[in-house]
Amino acid sequence: MSLPSNESSTDVISRQSPAHEYRLRLPGPTAVPQRVQSAIAKTLVNHRGPEFRALLREIEQLTKPLFGTENQILYFASSGTGMMEASLANILRPGDRVLVMKNGQWGERFAAIANAYGAKVDSLEFPWGEPPEAEAIGRKLAQDDYAAVLITHNESSTGVVADIAAIGEHTRDSPTLLVVDAVSSLGCIPVEQDAWAADIVVSASQKGLMCPPGIGLASVSEKAWEIVDEERPTPRFYWDFRKARASIVKNETPFTPPVSLLWGLLEALEMIHEESIAEVLARHGRLAQALRAGCDAMGLPSFPSDSALSNSVTALQVPEDLDGSTIVKHLYNNYGTVIAGSRNRLKGRVIRIGTMGHVSDGDILTDVHFLEATLNGLGRQVASGTGVSAASASLSS
Ligand SMILES: *Cc1c(COP(=O)(O)O)cnc(C)c1O
Repeated sequence: MSLPSNESSTDVISRQSPAHEYRLRLPGPTAVPQRVQSAIAKTLVNHRGPEFRALLREIEQLTKPLFGTENQILYFASSGTGMMEASLANILRPGDRVLVMKNGQWGERFAAIANAYGAKVDSLEFPWGEPPEAEAIGRKLAQDDYAAVLITHNESSTGVVADIAAIGEHTRDSPTLLVVDAVSSLGCIPVEQDAWAADIVVSASQKGLMCPPGIGLASVSEKAWEIVDEERPTPRFYWDFRKARASIVKNETPFTPPVSLLWGLLEALEMIHEESIAEVLARHGRLAQALRAGCDAMGLPSFPSDSALSNSVTALQVPEDLDGSTIVKHLYNNYGTVIAGSRNRLKGRVIRIGTMGHVSDGDILTDVHFLEATLNGLGRQVASGTGVSAASASLSS
């Protein structure tokens, strides 16, 4: 059994109870439904043949409504970080000023990538657990010229959602591009790229899209294409959006795509549309709320501010006398349940559970039940059924 991704390799642990199935409850990668797994196992086809072109055409139709856009979506073999980098490789010149919202780990990564591309990076810092303030961004943009504002839609490190609509009001009528990391929000939390005037929105397959890691997606506005189309000294080749656009109009990709994963993505998108996007988003809200209610009742209150709670990541405060990694290990060892700790300044203090993608009422009740057993196993005294009863009441309200 391999290690949960949030554990260090020096911290070797093994599952003691193989009776439990492996429950992947991270804020990504997330559990892959059987239908998607079966689709991925289909016969591999020629990526320049008619079957593949039909596949990409269908994916395109089903993806646009999730992004809330009429833009052409581009597909890459990539993780989410690759797509963040691709966005910047296509719009920045060395010395360009960018404004990065930092209220968690992913904002810091966006700043690090912009730095690597030679941009002059200004940051607006907000407390971890709070959303970025649109007014503060407006004031910065009034003072200085920025090539781009970089923002994380859903800060997976803290479980906080940014109000992209409000931020978009400040960039909409200016030359500044709004670049949005929607990796942990797409398919879980409403994304309305066109209505919000977001210029580049990127995501990846392993979160709300219920697929294994490996597909990166980018949606590029008309305003952003004008910048992408300019010649610039920054090197770009694999990530060149212009090449991707030239291919996608033929329902192809410039380089060999992750064909098998794309079969899986089509199946996942069909599942989302069968349930309906509105229902999928509502389910994420309902489940996140129930999970928080159950955890709160057991003495694990929500970490982020109430004003901007995520429907895809539940971040919980760990009691003073416990370390988050102990809870993570106990859940894995005893219940085969893989949740995340924190690998940043919240290390030990915050644990995180995904409500992303293929998650049901039963999953939430099971999470809460195992968490309760874990807390008791670690010496807390939680009365039997406390968490499940609160989560169950929330689910039926
Ligand atoms: C998961 C995640 C990413 C992508 O990370 P990769 O490991 O590169 O796929 C990017 N942004 C956010 C907010 C995420 O939650």
